[in-house]
Amino acid sequence: MTDPGTLDEVHRRYERERLKRLRPDGNDQYIAAEGVFSHYVDDPYMPRVNREPMVESPTDAVDVAFIGGGFAGLLTGAALRQAGVERVRLIDKGGDVGGTWYWNRYPGAMCDTASLIYLPLLEGTGDLLSEKYTRGPDILEHCRRIARHFDLYRDAVFSSEVTGLTWDDADRQWVIATNRGDRLRARHVCVGTGPLHKAKLPGIPGIEEFAGHSFHTSRWDYDYTGGDSDGSVMTGLANRRVGIIGTGATAVQCIPHLARSAGELFVFQRTPSSIDVRANRTLDYDELTPKMGPGWQRRWLENFTILQTGGIADEDLVMDGWTDISQRIRDRVLANPERGFGPEAMLAAYHESDDEKMEEIRARVDSIVDDPATADALKPWYRQLCKRPCFHDEYLDSFNRSNVHLIDTDGRGVEHITEGGVMVGDVEFELDCIIYASGFEVGTDFQRRWGFDPAGRGGQLLSDAWADGMSTLHGMHVHGFPNMFVIGPSQAANLISNIPHNLVEAGRTVASIIAEAERRRAETVEVTAEAERDWVALLESGGRTFGGDSSCTPGYYNNEGRPIEGADRRGMLGYPSGPVEYFRYIEAWRESGEFAGLVFD
Ligand code: NDP
Repeated sequence: MTDPGTLDEVHRRYERERLKRLRPDGNDQYIAAEGVFSHYVDDPYMPRVNREPMVESPTDAVDVAFIGGGFAGLLTGAALRQAGVERVRLIDKGGDVGGTWYWNRYPGAMCDTASLIYLPLLEGTGDLLSEKYTRGPDILEHCRRIARHFDLYRDAVFSSEVTGLTWDDADRQWVIATNRGDRLRARHVCVGTGPLHKAKLPGIPGIEEFAGHSFHTSRWDYDYTGGDSDGSVMTGLANRRVGIIGTGATAVQCIPHLARSAGELFVFQRTPSSIDVRANRTLDYDELTPKMGPGWQRRWLENFTILQTGGIADEDLVMDGWTDISQRIRDRVLANPERGFGPEAMLAAYHESDDEKMEEIRARVDSIVDDPATADALKPWYRQLCKRPCFHDEYLDSFNRSNVHLIDTDGRGVEHITEGGVMVGDVEFELDCIIYASGFEVGTDFQRRWGFDPAGRGGQLLSDAWADGMSTLHGMHVHGFPNMFVIGPSQAANLISNIPHNLVEAGRTVASIIAEAERRRAETVEVTAEAERDWVALLESGGRTFGGDSSCTPGYYNNEGRPIEGADRRGMLGYPSGPVEYFRYIEAWRESGEFAGLVFD
C-alpha cells in the first residue's frame, strides 16, 4: 500500500488535474448535431425511403405507442404482449430496433457489463451466449430476436422521428407527429428514448471549416473507412491520416481497430480514461448451468444489484468489473470492524480501495506502454468512478504501434480545427479524416434530447409542468399527462451500472397498469397531483442522486464539474433506499393491485 505522504501527493495531483479541466462554459462547450451539423446524425445504416405520411383517425389508434425502439421499447413491448395487449407500436428514428446498439456500430463496440445480466430476456428468447462480454453486433441481433419473438415488428414505424405529442381530450388519445408528416394515434404512449442518445460535438472553433471527411462514432461511416462492425480491417483508411477526438469509453473500444487499419492515427486526448483488465472469456456452461435454473436471470440481476450497491450476498454470481469494485469495498469494511459499518466506514473503505485500484491502473499503463512519456500521459489522475470506468485488454497496447500517436493536450483539449486538420497549441496536425468520439448529451433540457415537448391536458406543456424540475411518480407518471409513461432510471431505481435492469422492471410496471386499465375498462390512467408531490418529496428527503461529485474531474458524470442544483438536480434523483429496495417496492406496488396514487377513469 502506498504510504500516506505519497497518497497525499496523489490526491493533490487529482485536484490540480481537475482544476486544469474545469471550464466556465461547462456543458455549453458542446454543440448539438443540428443545423449545419445535422448531417452528423443522418442514418448511415438504412437508406431513407420516401413514403406517404400516415394520418390516422381515432378508430385507428393503437393500444400503446412507444417512442424509442431500444431496450426500453422492446422490454415494455414484450411485457405488454405477455399481458395480452394487442396493438403495440414502436416508433424510432433509426431504421430498426436496437436503440443505442442500432446506432453505435463502431468497430469494437461491446458491452462491459456481463452479458448474462446485461442482455434482457435471455430466458424468454432461448438465447445462449458464448462470451462473458457480448459484442455490439450480437447485442443488436438479440434486440431483433426480442422484436421477432414478441411480434413487435408488426406495427413498428422506423426511420421516423417524433416531433410532437399532443393529448386529444375529446377522444382520450395521444396524437403523435413525426418528421415524415405522420399523425399517429395511441391510447397510451411511452417515452423511452434512452439516457445517451443525442450525439454531441465539441464546440471547437473552426469545426465547420474542416475540408476533409468527418463523422461521429455513433454514425460510423463504413462506406469511407471500409471494414464492418464485426471488426474487419478498414481498408479505406490504409493510406490515410486519421484523427480521433475523445478518449472516453467509445474511443477506448474503437482505437485498437483504428490503430490496425489507419495509415497514421492521431489520438487527441484531454483526459485519459481508466483502463482496467477486461478478461473476456468463453462462458463455461458446465459451471454455470447449476446456477441457472428457472427464473435465473431475475436472481442474477438482483444479485448483481445487491453487490453493486454495497449490499451483502452469499455469492457473486456475475463476477465482472463492477462487482469487483464493490467486492473490494465490502472486503475492506469487513476487515475493519472497529470502524463500524455505517456510511463513514463505507466512504473510508471506498476511498482506500479506490486509491489501491487507481495505483494498479496506473501501474498497468507502465507495464504495457513502452514509451515512458506516452505511458505517463495515459495515466488517469482521479477516482475510478469519477468517469465511466473502462475495461480493455488491447487499448493501451495500441500506443506501442509506430503509426499511432498520442497527442495529449494536458487537459486543454483540441483548441482549433482548420481546413486541413487539428491544432493543439501551435502545432497543426494535417488529417484526412476526423472522428468525433465526443459522446452524448446529458443534463441538457429534456425537450432538446427528446426532440418534442408533450402537450397534455388543456395543452399544458411538459416543460411548463417541469419548470421547477422533473416531477413524477416512480419516474413514470406526470399529473396532467394521462396515459403517458416516461421510461428511464431517473426518479426510480437510478441503477446506472446496468441500465436494462431498470427497463425490465419499468416494462413490467407499464404492462400491469395498462392491463389493469383494460380490465377496469378505464380510458385514462393518471397520477394524482398529491401522489406526485409526495414522491418527489420522498426523493428529495433522501438526496440520492446520480453523479454530481464536484471533487471529481469534469465530465458528464458530474455536469462537467459544475454543481447540479435546483431544477436540474431533480432529474438526477433516485429512490432513497437504493435500487434493490426500489425494485422490491415497485414489485409490491404492482402486485397489490391497488396502484396507489393512480386514478383509473
Ligand atoms: P464520453 O462523453 O464519455 O467521452 C467524450 C470524450 O470527448 C471525452 O474523452 C472528452 O474529454 C472528449 N472531448 C470533448 N471535448 C474535447 C476536446 N475539445 N478535445 C479533446 N477531447 C475532447 O463519450 P463516449 O461516447 O466515449 O461514452 C459515452 C458513454 O457511453 C460512456 O460513458 C458509457 O456510459 C457508454 N459506453 C459504454 C461502453 C461499454 O459498455 N464499454 C462503450 C462505449 C460507451 P474529457 O474526458 O476531458 O471530457
